[in-house]
Amino acid sequence: MRKVLVTGGAGFIGSHLCEALLQRGDEVFVLDDLSTGQIENIAHLRNRKAFHFTLGSILDFPLLESLIKKTDLIFHLAAVVGVQKIIEVPVDTIEINVLGSHNVLNLAARYRKPCLLASTSEIYGKSTKHPFTEDDDAVYGPTTKSRWSYACSKAIDEFLALAYHNAQDLQVIIARLFNTTGPRQTGRYGMVLPRFVDQALRGEPITVFGNGHQTRCFADVSDVVRALLLLVDRPAAIGQVFNVGNPEEVSILELARLVKKLTGSDSEIRLIPYDQAYQPGFEDMDRRVPNIGKISELVGFKPSLRLREIVARIIESRREQVEESVGLPVTAEAQPHSLRAGAGE
Ligand code: NAD
Repeated sequence: MRKVLVTGGAGFIGSHLCEALLQRGDEVFVLDDLSTGQIENIAHLRNRKAFHFTLGSILDFPLLESLIKKTDLIFHLAAVVGVQKIIEVPVDTIEINVLGSHNVLNLAARYRKPCLLASTSEIYGKSTKHPFTEDDDAVYGPTTKSRWSYACSKAIDEFLALAYHNAQDLQVIIARLFNTTGPRQTGRYGMVLPRFVDQALRGEPITVFGNGHQTRCFADVSDVVRALLLLVDRPAAIGQVFNVGNPEEVSILELARLVKKLTGSDSEIRLIPYDQAYQPGFEDMDRRVPNIGKISELVGFKPSLRLREIVARIIESRREQVEESVGLPVTAEAQPHSLRAGAGE
């Protein structure tokens, strides 16, 4: 039985990762400050003997040290995440993502514990070369636009991880996650799919930021967790960077239409200029497509769920909650057709 530390384990991806680790027979230790994570995400795991939750921050060096000392492997997921959140709390973004990650990497190197660092496709910035391949250049906007602080903070994490690998032999793997979605993701911090689904189920306007022609690629969290587990089991992955995602591309406007269709909602689709949605001068990327050739070649990773199934899974997971909050049953048409018809045409 391996002892595994998951920082940010009460978050969206972290909670799914904890489930998968327990399923494999590992003993799991979570450190999370519940800033965006939720105790409900891990409530079903808390009576498991092999599951341990510590409320606290990766900025708390002695606490982190006590946990890292007793674990065999670290998944470092704790971070300030989400464009909206980053604009709201720019100081926390930089401090937690840089200083907190420094703590994790420094202790992992000191105690010789292997570590997987969750990085992000934001790293590529507004580069227009597609699809993104691990060694491509990063192109960022000016420091006066705070949205770039997320990409830069994660880029510093990657530099630091690779520096510890080269200088102190830290066994680190960097996973650059592209848009990851699925049950338990919350729309509260600007995550697009759960937000669209909630709006559609409530019969509210589905609000698309910008002109909606920007495209994204969504991977289901179950596929992403599988990729992370494949990577940590492969020694040849150490010291390397991998894109993790699903190359199936969709424009945000098409995505809104798909959500509307699968929920059976009457909601109008409303375009909101970026300036209103975020802040004046907000910059977004037109496309963000992963080249997953490297991870496919090394560990045979291929996403198993297609967009339609991914959206259907989110609708199913949100319906009950939305019904409770609006106090009305969501109409029969609002059942995801693809689930009833055998998802994934
Ligand atoms: P999330 O917000 O659900 O998870 C982050 C977790 O970290 C939360 O539980 C939060 O409470 C915790 N946390 C934040 N600051 C902390 C601190 N100082 N100490 C301890 N815990 C802290 O978001 P997520 O989508 O699950 O993201 C997990 C990781 O994956 C992040 O590192 C993120 O950058 C990366 N990522 C996610 C996506 C995505 O589409 N969801 C895409 C790219 C990268």
